Amino acid sequence: MRNHANRLTICTLIALAVVLSTYCTSTAAEKPPNFVLIFADDQGYQDVGCFGSPKIKTPALDRMAKEGRRFTDFYSAAPVCSASRAALMTGCYCARVGVTGVFFPNRSRQGLNPDEVTVAEVLKTRGYATACVGKWHLGDEKQFLPTRQGFDSYFGIPYSNDMSITRDGRRGPPLMRDEEIVEHPADQTTLTKRYTEEGVKFIRANKDGPFFLYLPHTMPHVPLFASEKFKDTSARGLYGDVIEEIDWSVGQILDTLRELDLAENTLVLFTSDNGPWLSKGKNGGCALPLRDGKFSTWEGGMREPCIMWWPGKVPADTTCSEVAATIDVLPTFAKLAGADVPRDRKIDGRDISKLISGNPDARSPHDTYFFRGQAVRAGKWKLHLKARDTVKKRPDQTFPALYDLSTDIGEDHNVATENPDVVDRLTKLLQQHNEEIAANKRPVGKMKKE
Ligand code: MG
Repeated sequence: MRNHANRLTICTLIALAVVLSTYCTSTAAEKPPNFVLIFADDQGYQDVGCFGSPKIKTPALDRMAKEGRRFTDFYSAAPVCSASRAALMTGCYCARVGVTGVFFPNRSRQGLNPDEVTVAEVLKTRGYATACVGKWHLGDEKQFLPTRQGFDSYFGIPYSNDMSITRDGRRGPPLMRDEEIVEHPADQTTLTKRYTEEGVKFIRANKDGPFFLYLPHTMPHVPLFASEKFKDTSARGLYGDVIEEIDWSVGQILDTLRELDLAENTLVLFTSDNGPWLSKGKNGGCALPLRDGKFSTWEGGMREPCIMWWPGKVPADTTCSEVAATIDVLPTFAKLAGADVPRDRKIDGRDISKLISGNPDARSPHDTYFFRGQAVRAGKWKLHLKARDTVKKRPDQTFPALYDLSTDIGEDHNVATENPDVVDRLTKLLQQHNEEIAANKRPVGKMKKE
């Protein structure tokens, strides 16, 4: 009798262990990571301590890099806001989704096509809670807002902070919650602080995950604003104050993840939408040692500071110098979340999860990376068929222009004459790319009556 009871207890224990282990394995396997995507606006390649800023102090971003991985050859898809964001959201070159410039409020009546599939929509298929907090700039009409593109909620200024509407006699950019204006004009001095509080609140509310927080800051796009606590504190003037407040914001987000024990299940990516607005002088950033900045396809316009952080998954204190880009965000997040990338359309981005996890054999999935149809990078070579100097004119510049980025990161020495075969090969690749995009591009979103 006792033997029978013992056997029963053992059987029950084994059954319990099997159930428990199945449960644990399945919850671990089924629990995809959280994502936080922090996107600065017009922040230059050099404007982070660990990317070489001589005056701006960024202890939180520096710690993020120390605990994570710096990407030195990370590109946005355009040197201006809307086009860059369209690519980030869709995983496509901006021309493919019909967004090559900048949307203006009440004027263009256009936006990112609602038929495009955004990274938020991809993650929704896996049950993610999604929030967009900050600058959207992919159309301000209701039908183009983040709430119509996969985000459960939205809080922020829907376009650049130097753009304005007039409403009840008041001018300036509006602050929106979901689809309503809640403050006009927005008090920009407290924007970074309020975005941060909103982001932290979202993380806390969704700590059981999975969640996707997209935090595109309004700053440091001009006009610059910092809160009382940061104003007049940086050695780099107001621009430095603004970056140092964004750095504080990054610290708040990472501290919240640490406190909630979410660090080891959350990938945080920090980068910028395009290079610094150099013609704004001290109110603009710095892209050194790169050439030029915003509006330009020289490196300074599209190569961005980038840091990835995921303790336990991203190797600490490492650097990746393989070519990667914002168009890779959608396929990479999809892969990590176990979601499908849209198959009914061409997606230009590639899964870079092996670069993120520091696999020593991982190489860039981009044999070629294209710059707005004007330039192409292939390995160490970058060829320009044309390019724009926004501040420092170089009248002796000729095209096609070829640079060896491994020895000439500043694109100073045109070596086209010495390397005619490389020029020919890259020119063909660029022409083929432009022809392929022209044949397979999709339309911009046009305003429809609701
Ligand atoms: Mg920008």
